[in-house]
Order: sequence, then C-alpha cells, then structure tokens
Amino acid sequence: MSGPERKPDIDTLVRELIDRRSLSTEGYAALIRERSPETACILRAEADRLKERIYGRDVYVRGLIELSNICKNDCLYCGIRRSNASVERYRLSIEEILLSCDTGYELGFRTFVLQGGEDGFFDDDVLCGLIGRIKEKHPDCAVTLSMGERSRESYEKLFKAGTDRYLLRHESADPLHYRKLHPPEMSFENRMECLRILKATGYQTGCGFMVGSPFQTEKELSEDLKFIESFKPDMCGIGPFIPHKATPFAGEKPGSVELTLFLISILRIIHPEMLIPSTTALGTLSPAGREEGIRAGANVVMPNLSPKAVRKKYELYDNKICTGEESAECRGCLERRMESIGHRIVTDRGDIKKR
Ligand code: SAH
Repeated sequence: MSGPERKPDIDTLVRELIDRRSLSTEGYAALIRERSPETACILRAEADRLKERIYGRDVYVRGLIELSNICKNDCLYCGIRRSNASVERYRLSIEEILLSCDTGYELGFRTFVLQGGEDGFFDDDVLCGLIGRIKEKHPDCAVTLSMGERSRESYEKLFKAGTDRYLLRHESADPLHYRKLHPPEMSFENRMECLRILKATGYQTGCGFMVGSPFQTEKELSEDLKFIESFKPDMCGIGPFIPHKATPFAGEKPGSVELTLFLISILRIIHPEMLIPSTTALGTLSPAGREEGIRAGANVVMPNLSPKAVRKKYELYDNKICTGEESAECRGCLERRMESIGHRIVTDRGDIKKR
C-alpha cells in the first residue's frame, strides 16, 4: 500500500482508540509502527484533556527512597543484578530511612516510595516494623513499596502493617520476551501472579515496562497495552530502557524517548484515571524528558529522597540523573520544571481518583 492510501487507516485507529479506549493487538501494533508527529499530537491533546478533567494541572510527587542495592536476582538489563561485581553494595539503616522520610515530610512529600533490590535483610518483620514507624510519625502519608516478588503471606502482612501501594513492573506481558530479559530461575507466571495477589489484597497496584528493551517490537508493546487494558492497574510506570555498562545488555541501543511519550498518551487514553509517572529514565535520556512526559499525559514525578551518599550506587542504568543533589534541590528543581509547563506540584498523598 502506498503512503496516502494508508493514512485513513491510522486515522480510523486513532478515532477508535479515543472513542472506545481500546484497540486490538494488531491495531496497537499498527498505530505504533505507523505513528507520526501528527498522530502523536492528536493523542497527546486527548490525553491532556482527559488528565485535566480528572486531575487538573496538579502533579503528584513521591519521595523515592532507595533502600538497598543488594539483590538476589539477575535481571539481564539491571545494573544492580547480583552478577555485577563492580557495584559497591549498600543498605540503608532503619534510622537513615526514617530520617529521609522526615526530610521528605518537611519538603512537602506525602507519599514515600521504598524501593530496592530483593535484599533478604528486608524480611516481613523488618519491613512491617519500618512501615509501622513511618505511619506512626506521618499518619497523613501514603507508603508505597517496590521491593519485588514476595509470597502472598508477605504481601498480606505488609498490607496489614499499613502499606498503601505496591509497584511491581510486569516488565513484559509476552512470556517469551519476558524470558529473554530474565534468568531462567525467574518466571513470567510468578510475576503476573504477584500482581494479581497485590490487587486482590487491596493495594493500589502498579505495573509497567521498559520501552525499547532488547528484543521488544510493536508486537510485544501491543501485548503490554492489552495487558493494561485488562488488568486495570491503579498506576503504570514506563520509561525508556537504558543500557548499563556492566550487564549483558551493555551494547544494546537505548529506548526511544519519542515512543515512550507516545505510549504515555495511549496509557492515559486507555485508563484516564491511572497514576502515570514521568520517570527519571525519561529525564536521563532527554534534558526536558520529564516535562515532556507530563505534557504527554503523565501526572506523577518521583524525585529522589535517598541520602546523597548512596545515590550513585543505586545505578539501574548508566548516567542516571539527580544523583549529585540534595533532596531539597531535587524537589525545588522539579517544582520549577513543572511550573514552566503550566503544572504545579501539590502537597497531597496523591491517591488515584476513581470515577
Ligand atoms: N526490585 C524491584 C525494583 C526494581 S528497579 C522490582 O523487582 O520491582 C525498578 C524498575 O527499574 C524495574 O522494574 C525496571 O523496569 C527498571 N529498570 C531496571 N533496569 C533498567 C534499565 N537498564 N533501563 C531502564 N529501566 C530499568
């Protein structure tokens, strides 16, 4: 088919997505493959309209505390995978974590995201104790965990201890693709089962994936979008894949910022109320990447609240930004960036607004 004849098909897909909030797998794949700046512009305008209606110009902030870079897993893309002998490993003490929360509270954060490698030190007793202390000191704050795969019992205990949300990116909704990104001992089925348990337990649950990870094509991305349609997560985090020099994927190409932005708009249209972060990985590949993410339909930013001394060590990918600043600088910088595009960071827990 020649160019001019093909165009109406894309226009039809765009209309269908906007009207029905859904496309077939083939429809998503075609939309992604044939995308143009014009299509991106139409989807961005629709995403912005939907976001404005639900969240106005408010951007929610989460204080990200990177608890530990010790990890028992060996994900092929990740800089803190256990096989990487060149990382200097660290683990924050409970007191350091609580101090980071205090600093964050002063700066106006009302959500703390505790993220880390799968470090056995953070067993249920330790995490439940920690969450209890954070909630006791800051009862008006939400606590989000992003500590990987755990058992049903563990997720239930952590929920009872007061955890509000859990982030566990599914990484890929295609089992074969998932397998190419992970070592044989990790399983697609278990990751998906964890997500189902988290949701059933009552967490505000977040999934997500990298854009441009090795072996990913439009087909895998359209499966990710279909998964999000059916799973209906409360949050979905996507960011470009960025190679890390000490991983098997060191020589792979980074993902595309432009495609990430295009997908953010699609995610907003699929589930208008979803909490969507504009990620640090976007800001790492492009100077105004996080502003662009918000303009494309995201409504959350996650500045770093980890103590400055450990930030460089939590290196999931090369050249990660915001590793040399104090928390207050990070927060101030993002506030200015959001203002520059007509948005404002609010002091709020930032729960999902369900209609
Ligand atoms: N151990 C936790 C946290 C993982 S780090 C867990 O398993 O959920 C958070 C996310 O960073 C990952 O889910 C992955 O999608 C992303 N990430 C890891 N390595 C990356 C890379 N090289 N480029 C871009 N994103 C990466």
